[in-house]
Amino acid sequence: MTTTAAPVRPYQHYVYAYPHKTAYRPLPDRPVLADVWAGEARDALSFYAHIPFCEVRCGFCNLFTRVGAPEGLTGRYLDALERQAIAVREALGDRRPARFANAAFGGGTPTFLTADELTRLCDIAERRMGVDLRAIPLSVEASPATATADRLAVLAERGATRLSLGVQSFVEAEARAAVRPQRRADVEAALGRIRDAAIPVLNIDLIYGIDGQTSASWRHSLDVALAWRPEEVYLYPLYVRPLTGLGRRADSGTGPAAADLAWDRERLARYREGRDHLLAHGYRQHSMRMFRRADAPEQGPDDYACQTDGMIGLGCGARSYTSTLHYAFDYAVAMPEIRGIIDAYAATTDFSRARHGRRVDEDEARRRHLLQSLLQAAGLPVAEYRERFGTAPQDDFPGELAELADRGWLAEEDAGRLLRLTDEGLAHSDAVGPAFFSPAVRAAMAAHEPR
Ligand code: SF4
Repeated sequence: MTTTAAPVRPYQHYVYAYPHKTAYRPLPDRPVLADVWAGEARDALSFYAHIPFCEVRCGFCNLFTRVGAPEGLTGRYLDALERQAIAVREALGDRRPARFANAAFGGGTPTFLTADELTRLCDIAERRMGVDLRAIPLSVEASPATATADRLAVLAERGATRLSLGVQSFVEAEARAAVRPQRRADVEAALGRIRDAAIPVLNIDLIYGIDGQTSASWRHSLDVALAWRPEEVYLYPLYVRPLTGLGRRADSGTGPAAADLAWDRERLARYREGRDHLLAHGYRQHSMRMFRRADAPEQGPDDYACQTDGMIGLGCGARSYTSTLHYAFDYAVAMPEIRGIIDAYAATTDFSRARHGRRVDEDEARRRHLLQSLLQAAGLPVAEYRERFGTAPQDDFPGELAELADRGWLAEEDAGRLLRLTDEGLAHSDAVGPAFFSPAVRAAMAAHEPR
C-alpha cells in the first residue's frame, strides 16, 4: 500500500482512559458529589478501589504507588477509603439505588494488604458502597510475592473472578533489567497458588522491549506463561517515562535518536512475534495488548458498555467518571510527592466534593467513545456511535480517519457499518489513539509538569 502520510512513532501514548490524568486540573468550584451524580445513569456502574502500595517500584512503572508502608498507614488508608465510600454512597442517594456491573481492585498492588485488610476492603465495597462482589466480575491485581494462599483464599471466597499477575518476564536477567527483580521459581510458585485458589480467570502480564531481551528469550517467556494455560495474557510494550526508574532511556526531546528508532523496530518485532504466537496457541486478540483464550469463561454481563457507563473510584489514585465530569485526587509520579498525596488522603475527612478533574463536553465524549471502540479489535460499530451522537464518526473525524486509512491501518467493513483497525493499525494503537486527542487535552497534557 502506498501512503502519502509521514512516518509516525508507534509508541506514543497508551490510551487506557481518555482524557489522561495529566489533563486533569484542580476544579475551582469543587462541585458537590451529590450534584455531580444527580441525573446520572447508575444502573451499570463500574467500581474501582485503588491500593497505592507496592513492595518495590518497578523501573517502568508510572502508576500512582509508593514502596512499602510505615506502621499503621494501610489501616489509616482503609479508614479513609471507608469514609470516602460512605460519602459517595450518600451522594448517590437512595432514591435510585446504584447498581454495579463490575468491580476491580488495582494499584499499586492490592495484595500488599494483609488477608485481614483485604477482608476489610471487601466489606467496605459491599456494606458501605453496596457492591455485590459475588454477583459481578471482580478483578484483582497481584504481584508474585504477595499472592499468598491466605490472601488468595479471601479473594476467592469474596467472589474474585479474575486475578492478574504482573510477571513481565520469566527471564531473571530481564526482570532485573526492568528493575523488577524476581526469581522465576517464586513466580511459578505464585502461579501455582493462584491455580490452587481456583479463581476462574488468570491473567499474566508480560513486557516486551526490555534491555537484553531477544526474539528467543521473548518466546521463552511466552511459552512458560502458556504452560499455565492462562485465560488471558496482556503483552505490554516497555515504555520509559519521566521520573521512573528507567527514565534514563527517555528521548532527548530534540527528535528521535537512531537508538530510539531501533528500539521502536525491536518492540514492533516482539509485538508481532508475541501476537502470532498467542494466536497460534488458541488465543484471540481483543486489543493491541489483550489476548484471551478462545475457550475462557466470559467476564461479565454483556449489557455493560464502557463507552457510556459511569465509574465510582475509591482511593487516592482512582478516577471517577460521570457523563460530564472525570475526577480524581491529585496525581504524581515522583515518590516524595506520592507519599505526600497518600498521607493527605489518609487524613481527609470531607469527601463530599470533587477537587481535581476535567469536564467532558460532547466533543470530548465523541472522542472518548471513538477511542474506546476503535482501539478494540472488534472495532467501532457506526450505528452505535450514530445512535448516541446523531452523526457518523466519518462526519466528525474525516481527516483523522482518512489518514489512518491512507496508512493502511483502518478498514471500513460491512459496507461502511464497521470501522476496524487492520492488523497493522492494531500494532500501532499507541499512535492511533493520540491522533484523536482534542487540541485542549493535548495542550493540557503538554503543560503538565511531571512531579
Ligand atoms: S508495575 Fe505494578 S508492582 Fe510494579 S511498581 Fe507499578 S504498580 Fe507496583
